[in-house]
Amino acid sequence: MSYLRAVLNNNTALEKKHLINIISYGKKLGYDTKKYQAELKKLSSKKKIKTVKKISKKKKIEKEYAKKSIIANNSNSKYSIKKVYTQKNMIIIDFNKHVTKKDIDYNIDKTKYSNLYLFDIKGYFKDARPTKLAINGIDKIFIIQKNKTILHIKVRDKNRLKPIYIINNKRIIIKFLNIKTTSKKSTVTYKEKYERKIVLIDPGHGGKDSGAIGPYKRYEKHVVLAIAKDLAYHLKRRGYKVYLTRTNDKFITLRNRTKKANRVNADIFISIHANSIAKSKAKEVKGIETFFLSPARSARAKRVAAKENSSDVRAMSNATKNSFLTVLNQSKITASNKLAIDIQQNMLYQLKKHYKYIEDSGVREGPFWVLVGAQMPSILIEVGYISNPMESRRLYNKKYQKILAEGIANGVDSYFLKNP
Ligand SMILES: [Zn+2]
Repeated sequence: MSYLRAVLNNNTALEKKHLINIISYGKKLGYDTKKYQAELKKLSSKKKIKTVKKISKKKKIEKEYAKKSIIANNSNSKYSIKKVYTQKNMIIIDFNKHVTKKDIDYNIDKTKYSNLYLFDIKGYFKDARPTKLAINGIDKIFIIQKNKTILHIKVRDKNRLKPIYIINNKRIIIKFLNIKTTSKKSTVTYKEKYERKIVLIDPGHGGKDSGAIGPYKRYEKHVVLAIAKDLAYHLKRRGYKVYLTRTNDKFITLRNRTKKANRVNADIFISIHANSIAKSKAKEVKGIETFFLSPARSARAKRVAAKENSSDVRAMSNATKNSFLTVLNQSKITASNKLAIDIQQNMLYQLKKHYKYIEDSGVREGPFWVLVGAQMPSILIEVGYISNPMESRRLYNKKYQKILAEGIANGVDSYFLKNP
């Protein structure tokens, strides 16, 4: 876990040291260490870039300082838009503040030959130059700073691919789905059409296994299915390919859940659960937490894992369990941890916008067996305590479920942006 910790703390020197260790041990044991070697190479080159950037930054500050003394009376010196760029099928706009729906106005204008998509975005971007933005398969993207407070983006599109836009913390993403490149120059471009990420959503429990039961006979299995369906809806709209382990109230073994994830070749696996605690503590204990698989066994993780791990797993011998949790899982664990962080942050952010008393119980590691069999980054979300009167009431509320699902979807977007 020390390697993972180094990654999380952004400690490059330590990260490098651990990577070198992993590689040398891996070689001795005959493991494939290519991934780690590539990572090490990346880290070494990263460092170089950083130092170069530092120098240019210094110069920039000096330049900006000189400018500031001239236009000191211009109150608009804080640019609210930091960066506008394209990546794959997306236009990404980064702000230095949180964005809401009110900050974007979208209109569509249909002409005989093409669609025009018009975005008026609140904010000032000092580098609005029309030449910089391009997406393969889109005719043209114009960008202009209309006035001091509105950035205008106009997209001309012959293929009439309607864009969708997503607001995620300090970022707006304009996404074009189903892009097919029209260039006839080569046949390769056909293959280059945007590859959709595959997400497997796993609503916990089902059928004879009701999961935790809260006040007024609120069942975990019902809550998590509703949230899973909302999440599927949001992700599909954003262009993901989505599968669910169950779409109705039926029992599924842990093994079959991960089997499905592997069969459909999912890029990530998200298991959704609700937590519970003994009646004597039900009123005080609440909160949302996201777990990722790891051998770590804190008392808290143990307690939650014991609840979520089914009886067929509990019967497994310790030796068998430990053999699963070898160093080989390291890269998957790192990715799972990153995914857990993105989802937890976005879930909390989205809920806090609409509700008071949202409690962040953080990202935790634990031995969850539903995550062991999955070959992709996998996490388990405890969306709240169904035993807590307030949280269980909210978890049964349609609006709350929708907002929670939207937060998870934002987290998925955020993860894939950083880890394409
Ligand atoms: Zn559960």
